[in-house]
Amino acid sequence: MPIDPNTEKFIKIIALKNSVEHGGKAQSDAVIAKFVGLKPELRSQIKLLISEIKAVVQQINALSLADQKSLLEELAPSKVAEKKKQVSDQRQQLPPLEGAMQGKVVTRFPPEPNGYPHIGHAKAAIIDEEYARMYSGKLILRFDDTNPLNEKVEYYDAIAEGLKWLGVKPDIVKNTSDDIELLHNYGRRLIELDGAYVCICSQEMIHDLRARGIPCECRRDPATALDRIGKLFRGSYEQNEAIVRFKGDMADQNTAMRDPALFRIIDSDHPKLGNRVRIWPTYDFAAPIEDSIGGVTHAFRTKEYELRNALYFAILDRLNLRKPYLIEFSRLEFEGIPVSKRKIKPLIENGTIRSWDDPRLPTLAALRRRGFVPEAIRKFVLSLGLTLAETKPPFESLEALNRKIIDPISLRLFFVKNPVEMYVRGGPETEVVLKNHPTDANLGIRTVKVGDRFYISEDDAAGLKVGAEIRLIELYNVKVTSIDWKNGARLMITAEASGNEIRQSMPKIQWIAKNDIIDYKVMIPKELYVSEEEYNTNSLEISQGFAESFVSHLEPDVQVQFVRFGFCRIDGNQIAIMTHR
Ligand code: ATP
Ligand code: MG
Repeated sequence: MPIDPNTEKFIKIIALKNSVEHGGKAQSDAVIAKFVGLKPELRSQIKLLISEIKAVVQQINALSLADQKSLLEELAPSKVAEKKKQVSDQRQQLPPLEGAMQGKVVTRFPPEPNGYPHIGHAKAAIIDEEYARMYSGKLILRFDDTNPLNEKVEYYDAIAEGLKWLGVKPDIVKNTSDDIELLHNYGRRLIELDGAYVCICSQEMIHDLRARGIPCECRRDPATALDRIGKLFRGSYEQNEAIVRFKGDMADQNTAMRDPALFRIIDSDHPKLGNRVRIWPTYDFAAPIEDSIGGVTHAFRTKEYELRNALYFAILDRLNLRKPYLIEFSRLEFEGIPVSKRKIKPLIENGTIRSWDDPRLPTLAALRRRGFVPEAIRKFVLSLGLTLAETKPPFESLEALNRKIIDPISLRLFFVKNPVEMYVRGGPETEVVLKNHPTDANLGIRTVKVGDRFYISEDDAAGLKVGAEIRLIELYNVKVTSIDWKNGARLMITAEASGNEIRQSMPKIQWIAKNDIIDYKVMIPKELYVSEEEYNTNSLEISQGFAESFVSHLEPDVQVQFVRFGFCRIDGNQIAIMTHR
C-alpha cells in the first residue's frame, strides 16, 4: 500500500528517536506501540502499516548512530527550535531599551586588555549581546587599550578566546588604539573650543586643589592652552610634567566634574602601537568619543561609573557629538570570590595563585577548566536580569544551572577517597557490567573484573560496625564480620557476601576492585577569601584515593560524576577538578 509522505516521516521520526535512545537499534514493537499511542486515529489501519514500520526500522538500523542522530535532527529539529524559544524567553527577562528601534541598536563590550576575562565580563558581554540580538542590531567588541602600562597581547587573546568559548559573537571587533589620531584630534579641538587646557601643576597640587574645589593658573588663559598643546604633541614635556584636563567646574558637588584628566604622557611600549604614541587618552575621554563615533546607541556600564555619566555627556556636548543612551547595571560579585582583575591580578603577581585558570578563580578560563559550560553561565547572567541592587548572588545558583546541563552527559564512575581495604570472604570471581550513565545508554558500559578484595572510602568505612550490612553498588550486599586496626586507623574490613536484595535502609556505597585501581587525585576549589581581605590558605583541597582503571582512558575535559562524591572535569593524567557536588 502506498503510504502518505507525512505518515512516513512520522514513522521515521519515531523509529529514529527509539533507536537513538537505545544505542542505535530501534525495535519494531516499541515503534508500533508508540505510533498507535500518538496516532490513535490510524489504529484501524495498523495492520496495513506494520510492514511499513518494520521496513523503516530495518532501514534505520542499518545506519550508524551518528547518521541516525543527524537524520533525526534534520527531520525533527524540535530540540533546536525549543532551545531558541528558551533563549527568547530568557531575553524577555531583560526590560525593553529606551529609544530602541528594531535593526538600529548598537551595543558594545569594551574590556581593557589588562587581564583575563571573568564572569563579571561575561555578564556585561552577554547583556550587550542579548540586547543587540533582541533588536536585530549589532554588537561591537572594543578593546579599550589606552594605557600601555597595563596592556598585553596575551590579554587581548585571552579576552577573544573567553568570548568565543562563551558563544558571544561580536559583529565588529576593534581597538580604541586604532583611533588614536582621531582621539588626539578631538583633544586638540576641545582645547580650541576652550573646553580643555594643559595643566603643568604637580600631581600633589592638582590633587589638593581638586579636593578644595579651587582652579589653578593653567586654566585661565586659552592662548596658553593652545601654545602648550602644540608643545605637548611635539614632545616638549616629560612624563608627569603635563596633562590635558577638561574644563568642568572645580566647585561641582560631583568631584568627577572637577577638571578631570583627558590625556597623559605614558612612555611605555603599547602592545599594538609600540612606542609611536606617548599621549594617551584616559578612559573618561576615550569612552564617550568611541561610543559616539562608533555608532553605539546604547552603552551599558557598571554602576560605579554613575558619577562619571555627567562628564561623559559634557564631553560629547562640547564637541557637538551624538549622545548614546547610558544604562547601568550592578557589578557581579560573589561572597568569598573576588570578581575583579584589580583583586585577582595581585594574587597572580605575588605568586599566591599560579595561573589565570586556577580553578579557584572566577575567570572564564578557570570556570571552563573546572567544568562549567557556557550555557549555564548565560542562563545565570540572564536570571540576574538588569538589576542595580548590589546583592551578591549565591555561587550555588550558578552550580545548580550547570548541574542540570551536565548531569545527562556525565559518566558515572567510581572514585574512593582515602581508600580502606575490604576483604569479602568467599567473594566470587566475576565480571560486572556497569552502566556509564543510569538512563543514557549512548554513554556506554564498562566491564570490571572483581574478586574478593575491594577498596571503599574511609568516610564510608568509618560508619561501619561489625554486623553492619551494606550494598556495594551494582554488585551485591556484604555483612561486616571484623575490622582490623593499625595505629588507630582501619587497616582492613572483613565481610561476607550476604545476598542481593536491595533494602532501603542499607547504605549503598561505591567501591573499587583491588585489581582495577589507579592512584587518583581530585582538586576541590574552595572560597578564596575568608573575609574581605583575608586569603583562605585552605582554598584548594586535594582529595587522594583510587579511581577505577577505566578513568585512565579518559581524555582531559571529559565530564564525569564520581558517584557519591561530585561532578568533576578530567584535568590530566590521574587528576580531576571538582566542578561542584
Ligand atoms: P576589573 O575590576 O575586573 O578590572 P573593569 O571594570 O576595570 O573590571 P573592564 O575590562 O574595564 O574591567 O570592563 C569591561 C566591561 O565589563 C565594563 O563595561 C565593565 O563595566 C564590565 N564589568 C567588569 N567587571 C564586571 C563585573 N564584576 N560585573 C559586571 N560587569 C563587569
Ligand atoms: Mg577597567
